[in-house]
Amino acid sequence: DYEKECPPDKEILGRATWTFLHTMAAYYPDKPSPMEQSTMKSLLTSFSQFYPCGPCAEHLQEEMKVDPPKVESRKDLSWWMCGMHNKVNELLGKDKFDCNKVDERWRDGPSDGRCD
Ligand code: FAD
Repeated sequence: DYEKECPPDKEILGRATWTFLHTMAAYYPDKPSPMEQSTMKSLLTSFSQFYPCGPCAEHLQEEMKVDPPKVESRKDLSWWMCGMHNKVNELLGKDKFDCNKVDERWRDGPSDGRCD
């Protein structure tokens, strides 16, 4: 029942947003056209400007200045996103995620087939 739902806090918003960002990276083309690369760059720049958590957006913009989005391939983007998320994990005292596992987590699922 929609009337009982609350607006998202930083955590709910964060979880939903990472789901979107990692999944988008997991399905980005292996060989994106120059146009796709520039669209992805502007998407991420715009995103970091309007992310609706002030301190998170500021932090993200700073990190993107030091380490700009890598949009040359699906693998590059997935790893870059994983690295960004790990910087936030570090800031919040959370465990670091093993970036070798991004495809398993966000696209393929585990080999035991329980997500098929
Ligand atoms: P989340 O960190 O939301 O992760 C969700 C799932 O992603 C995990 O369960 C795991 O399976 C997977 N995962 C974890 N790390 C990685 C990785 N490196 N690569 C791929 N998959 C991974 N919160 C703040 O308090 N301060 C901030 O400055 C802040 N900045 C943020 C900036 C952005 C761009 C976003 C999207 C969120 C930010 N958040 C911030 C929210 C924060 O990152 C978490 O989303 C929130 O604390 C909820 O954490 P969680 O433990 O549920 O897991």
